[in-house]
Parts: sequence; structure tokens; C-alpha cells
Amino acid sequence: MLDIITIPVLSDNYIYLLHESVTGETAVVDPAQAAPVMRILAKKGWRLDYIFNTHHHADHVGGNLQLKQQTGCKIIAAESDRQRIPGIDIGVNDGEQILLGERKIAILATPGHTSGHIVYYCAESQVLCCGDTLFSLGCGRLFEGSAEQMWQSLQKLKALPPATRLYCAHEYTQANGRFALTLEADNPTLMQRIAEVNALRKLNLPSLPSNIGLELATNPFLREHSPSIRKSLAIPEDASATRVFAEIRRLKDHFH
Ligand code: ZN
Ligand code: FE
Repeated sequence: MLDIITIPVLSDNYIYLLHESVTGETAVVDPAQAAPVMRILAKKGWRLDYIFNTHHHADHVGGNLQLKQQTGCKIIAAESDRQRIPGIDIGVNDGEQILLGERKIAILATPGHTSGHIVYYCAESQVLCCGDTLFSLGCGRLFEGSAEQMWQSLQKLKALPPATRLYCAHEYTQANGRFALTLEADNPTLMQRIAEVNALRKLNLPSLPSNIGLELATNPFLREHSPSIRKSLAIPEDASATRVFAEIRRLKDHFH
């Protein structure tokens, strides 16, 4: 079993604690801060074995050094980001597998938001920690990659089983939903998801995890094939999927 605890920090970040209950091994994904993680570990009586970083941005690695100093945990991150991940111990590459206790976790490279971005996928537990690559109803901004590269990365995630739960690093769903509606107002699943998210957020509850199946049905960045999205964009009807994706990303960058 993999127990997952969601820790909201900063204005809209989520830190996830993954606890493998057979061996008691615990990992924290993208600790923006150390103190909130230490508090939960103490409350649960868990020791911290690993930090899993998806990429080098400060709101994902901010707690690395303090957690390592206080717990002796090992820090896992992309080998290609070795120079910019504070305290990195183990560099991993696309397609490699790591272990959290008895659970196998696959590393998938998903460049686009940053060049070294990776995600952590546990097939047995149907869990995907996707950092800033895929959000509910959105995707990460292209800081270091091209639209083509991000589109390729998202194809990998689209291909995972629909029941796969998505643990994204930010609570962006409401704002993403407002943008998605401008492109596909006639999508009933999208309307329903937005209503559910509004209700959750009103209670200050996370809109996550989402899942791959729900995102395939609602997330405009995974729906380049949708005729109504294509119609909403000022591009040729036969535009390629990557062209449609790039245009959606461009519009979102300017949407407020
Ligand atoms: Zn980021
Ligand atoms: Fe971030």
C-alpha cells in the first residue's frame, strides 16, 4: 500500500508524502518547505527516507537541504539537473526504476516546463506525481522547452491507464477551468468538473488528485482533437496536433 498525504504550502503548492506501509519507507515529493513536512512526519511517526524532486524550481526544492540535514534522507532528481538540485544524491534518467519499500516507481522524462523535468509513476498503486508538467485542466508553462517537446511529454502521460491518479504540484484547477471554458463551453464533463472543483475550493479542499481519464475528457491541452476547441482557435481546420497545442498554450499565457 502507498499512503499519500497532501500538504498545502505557499500560495498554491502541494507537497506530497508517500508512505509505503509494508516497510515504512517514506518519500516526500517536491518539498517547497521543510517545516510543514517535519510536522507531519512527527505526527505520523514516520522517518523520511527520500526526497523526490521533479525539477529545480525553488517552489519544489526549497526544503531540500534542511530536510536532508534534519532526517538524513537521500535526494533523488534528474541526473541532467545535478548542477541545480540542492543536495542531490542520486541522479536518475528516463525509463529507470527506483524503489520505495516494495513499490516500484518509474521515472519518466517530461521536458517542456524545464529541460530536466521528470515525473514519478507507480503503476501498481496507479499514482503519478507529475510536478509542473500536467495540471488538472492545464499544463506547465514552457520555460525551457518548445511546444513540440511539451506535447511529446504529455503524450507519454496520456498513454497511462485512465485510472491513474494525478498528484500535481499546484492548485491551479479553478483558474485553468475558466480558461478551458473559453475553448470548449459545450463540454458537459468539463462543466461538471468545474462545478465540483468550485464546491471543493469553497471548502478549502484540494481539487487533486485528478486522474488521467478525467483529464482526457476535460483538459484542453490533452484535447487537440476536439472539434469545438479547434473551432475556438483562429487556425486552419487541418492544423497538426502540436500546432493546436502550441496555440492553446500561447492563449493561456495571455489569459487573465
Ligand atoms: Zn516549476
Ligand atoms: Fe511550480
